[in-house]
Amino acid sequence: MGQVLSPWQPLRGPLRRPRPAAGAAAKAAAAPADAGPPPAALEPGSLQLLVLQPSPFCNLDCDYCYLPDRGDTRRMALPLLDRVLAEVAASGLAGAELSIVWHAGEPTAVPRDWYEAAFALVARHAGGRRVQHHFQTNAVRVDAAWCAFFRRHGVRVGVSLDGPAALHDAHRRHRDGRGSHAAAMRGVAALRAAGLDFHAIAVLTRDALDQADAVYDFFADLGAVQVGFNVEEAEAAHPRSSLDAAGTEAALRRFWQRLLQRLGAEPGPTGPRLRVREVEAVLAALRDPRFGQGGGNTQNLPGRILNVAHDGRWCFWSPELLGDRHPQRGAVVLGRLDTGQLPRVAAAAGTTEAAEQAWQAWPPWQQEIDAGVRRCRADCAYWAFCLGGAPSNKLTEHGRLDAAATRACRLGQQVVVDAVLQALDGQLPPAGAPGADAPAQAGAAAAPAP
Ligand code: SF4
Repeated sequence: MGQVLSPWQPLRGPLRRPRPAAGAAAKAAAAPADAGPPPAALEPGSLQLLVLQPSPFCNLDCDYCYLPDRGDTRRMALPLLDRVLAEVAASGLAGAELSIVWHAGEPTAVPRDWYEAAFALVARHAGGRRVQHHFQTNAVRVDAAWCAFFRRHGVRVGVSLDGPAALHDAHRRHRDGRGSHAAAMRGVAALRAAGLDFHAIAVLTRDALDQADAVYDFFADLGAVQVGFNVEEAEAAHPRSSLDAAGTEAALRRFWQRLLQRLGAEPGPTGPRLRVREVEAVLAALRDPRFGQGGGNTQNLPGRILNVAHDGRWCFWSPELLGDRHPQRGAVVLGRLDTGQLPRVAAAAGTTEAAEQAWQAWPPWQQEIDAGVRRCRADCAYWAFCLGGAPSNKLTEHGRLDAAATRACRLGQQVVVDAVLQALDGQLPPAGAPGADAPAQAGAAAAPAP
């Protein structure tokens, strides 16, 4: 499931830079002296996404998956989940709204009665905040009973599909090697029959890049409210990508150009049949009055995403980071919630020794991540769209978190921004015509990356 599970990507919006807290310097004392300023303090209510792993197990064995333990059938114990939710409430991190993504492994591989008990625990700890559950599923097990469950709990569903059967089945296979497309499409049919909205996330592998029309037609007919395209990334247990091949960047540019042509060619009475997450994200960034003013994104700022594994290990930042290894710092694990605690934000009372230990765990990591974000801001023409990228890609590609550009950001961010801005440019009046200087900001942002 790993490569296709990125419901948090749309959350990479501009975010307010947290204010430094008194005492932050002392908390970050373990960081190297030349690593830059200490990280900003955790902010009350900053948590946007709680990523919970009910089990690492996945019923599929996709060849681009980054999860090393997807054959492990262990399940999060409900008393541990109870403790995790109590810690989230006590930490002061959660605000008035919280999204919970059941992730990392196939969520429907865990029985519904486990979720009934789990959702009851979530409701018990909600404390008046609005909680939205999300499942990103390969849809192989989705049937009428799962659809009834989704409807009963208002679960937002994302389906992982790579397009037409030949593209999908080349990588997304059962453990016995059979392709999973037919089974996934039965799941999609169940969702449609139940009248449930769903979005789709596709992984772009090298072979998909030459089939833009087939991919477009497949998703335009699917009935999803939106499709997102994740480039196949080298990450964690998947250290090499089919996109490492020569000529990939040019092929990816052609793919996006063709997709945008197709989108533009079928406005229809209510717009194109297809909504594409990446295109909408670029347009939303351009329309945002705070364009270019963000200090980071949900994957690199502290406390925006909290990832908790089935055994209680936890970390902030990109979900793919949890359990990955840093050459010097070791496993990306900030603590264990089966025995330990989450850090308390400054405003939260009742800080214990365990919470204090958790407080001291994250600043050295954050300081290294912040150094990478500063490099991005100083050097990258795409900063305003991306806000510093994903620490998981930086660690995999550079073996460090204080890096800037990665191949993943080049392919997954910069190429898309270029293609959308080029398409917008094509709709502008020629230079010198009335109103021709209006979108100058967009053109400036499209300058080549250093
Ligand atoms: S270098 Fe890459 S990760 Fe950094 S801001 Fe630019 S596009 Fe994003």
